[in-house]
Amino acid sequence: MSNERINLMNLDRAGLENHFESIGEKRFRAHQLMKWIYHHGVTDLNAMTDVGKKLREKLEATSEIRPPTVKYQKVSTDGTAKWLVDIAGGNAVETVYIPEPTRGTLCVSSQVGCALNCTFCSTATQGFNRNLTTSEVIGQVWLAAQALGHDAKTNRRLTNVVMMGMGEPLLNFDAVVPAMNLMRDDYAFGLANKRVTLSTAGLVPGIDKLSEMCDVSLAVSLHAPNDELRDQLVPLNKKYPIAELLAACQRYLVNRPRASITFEYTLMKGVNDKPEHARALVKLLRKMPSKLNLIPFNPFPGTRYERSDEATIRQFQAIVMQADLIATVRRTRGDDIDAACGQLVGNVLDRTRRSARMKAQSEAHV
Ligand code: SAH
Repeated sequence: MSNERINLMNLDRAGLENHFESIGEKRFRAHQLMKWIYHHGVTDLNAMTDVGKKLREKLEATSEIRPPTVKYQKVSTDGTAKWLVDIAGGNAVETVYIPEPTRGTLCVSSQVGCALNCTFCSTATQGFNRNLTTSEVIGQVWLAAQALGHDAKTNRRLTNVVMMGMGEPLLNFDAVVPAMNLMRDDYAFGLANKRVTLSTAGLVPGIDKLSEMCDVSLAVSLHAPNDELRDQLVPLNKKYPIAELLAACQRYLVNRPRASITFEYTLMKGVNDKPEHARALVKLLRKMPSKLNLIPFNPFPGTRYERSDEATIRQFQAIVMQADLIATVRRTRGDDIDAACGQLVGNVLDRTRRSARMKAQSEAHV
């Protein structure tokens, strides 16, 4: 059928304004609609009392407002919540909410599975199915806001969004950017720019494109202080080695003089957690306005890595902090519901056959 309905949650403010213009309506009508969808959680056009009947009929004929649906919700003993979000065609992704005393962070997925093959990440073992649409990305925020009773005006429950769920957000640029626009739009979720963070495994051209198009915080998954080790952990490094990646980070900061880059560093026992790694990291980041986020490795079935000991983690942190780097250790949250970093798996109908290859490999090792 050629006249498929357009899902209005796929459009950010500019897209929606253009859409209204294209159907012969005033652009500001888009703002009314956004407030209903994102402030009031209303998706039924007939409940939008200040939208005229004629316009409602016109919209109903050509479009729909359709967020994704929740398959189930799990809540951890520490208050962390995880939703399995239904993605058409038998797929599902995970979204995680992490409450803290002064903020509430939502961790959002960008793809069904992941096409990168980071050796220490469980999402990678699932293979890849497809990119999420904008409505599926912003829909995760919409669903969480509904479940949490979030009030867009007071911003109490949901204060930060991190694109740190399943997938590589910069490989789904065209859907993720409009979704991040909606997160920061006053007619939608109204979060401050710096409270929306995109995390990347290091896609250099994507960082440059983002820098021009979207003012959000940037996090980079570094995990190793030299190319030899990073090549093994993050295979994308072979294409964009550390020097090129850090140069892209510096370029990102040129127009954002007060910002800094967050570097994620997952600590794996005996792999990247030695004092020499910490010292090399200090050298690497000395000239970069940065924050280091140390993540104790979270195990998952079939992995060959182990979490570093607590004493090793503390020693690593002490070395980098002595050199005046800001380094925090990311406390593991929600591990009783498999909601910790690198544990998100969802349901991925793998189209790359990687999941089958990984399974065969791990069975061969037994
Ligand atoms: N693809 C993006 C977004 C994912 S963010 C990126 O790589 O940045 C998820 C973060 O958790 C990344 O820093 C990732 O490297 C880290 N991570 C993955 N597996 C992990 C594991 N098993 N334990 C701890 N951290 C992990």
